[in-house]
Amino acid sequence: MVQRPDTYRHKGMRKKLIAQLAKKGIQDKRVLEAMERIPRHWYLDEAFVKFAYDDTAFKIGAGQTISQPYTVAFQTELLQLKPTDSVLEIGTGSGYQAAVLGELVSKVYTIERHKSLSDKARKLLKQLGYTNIRCFFGDGFAGLPAFAPYDGIIITAAAPEVPQTLLDQLKVGGRLVIPLGEGDTQQMLRITRVAEEEYKTEEFDRFKFVPMLKGAVR
Ligand code: SAH
Repeated sequence: MVQRPDTYRHKGMRKKLIAQLAKKGIQDKRVLEAMERIPRHWYLDEAFVKFAYDDTAFKIGAGQTISQPYTVAFQTELLQLKPTDSVLEIGTGSGYQAAVLGELVSKVYTIERHKSLSDKARKLLKQLGYTNIRCFFGDGFAGLPAFAPYDGIIITAAAPEVPQTLLDQLKVGGRLVIPLGEGDTQQMLRITRVAEEEYKTEEFDRFKFVPMLKGAVR
């Protein structure tokens, strides 16, 4: 699947993109370095390859999109990850965000409700050698209790509400990063489980995501 080389030109464009992200306010060096290492053009359809290092979202099939690099960087930074962390992602999509997480933590679990996208991402990430990323096909509203609790949970689709199931799957000290709202844009929230029964919510900028929907699609 990855027939495309990663040339000096690609690396140069990536460097520029990372500089833009830093200028837009992303500060976490580990996040910026991970994104500089990952060839985003491997996660896009052929038609969009030449725009892979523009700071924009693109269609990836099944009516879905790969998030804008700034959004990926912003959400990843909010997770405040440590190398030993275990992270759950809802909305695998292209697999790009999972790869960014895979560079930063020891274990990544990612769920996608579209079978075609899930299969494609699983194959690609395996081929790229990410042995610490596991792809699951299913409905992210249920989370993934088998591997819970998590240090971080990231939802990469617009959530209509904060799913209690996902809060339950956080470790004490764990963070849920969630774009909340059903309107045109969503409010980015970070909800930290500060004690067994106590959560702290912080509000950030507004972003635009495809909707988080119930049920899985074969
Ligand atoms: N993180 C992705 C972005 C994908 S867009 C990337 O890096 O490319 C959001 C994805 O969330 C879509 O693929 C959509 O199908 C998926 N999604 C929406 N609702 C979901 C749910 N309930 N469970 C799992 N995935 C969901």
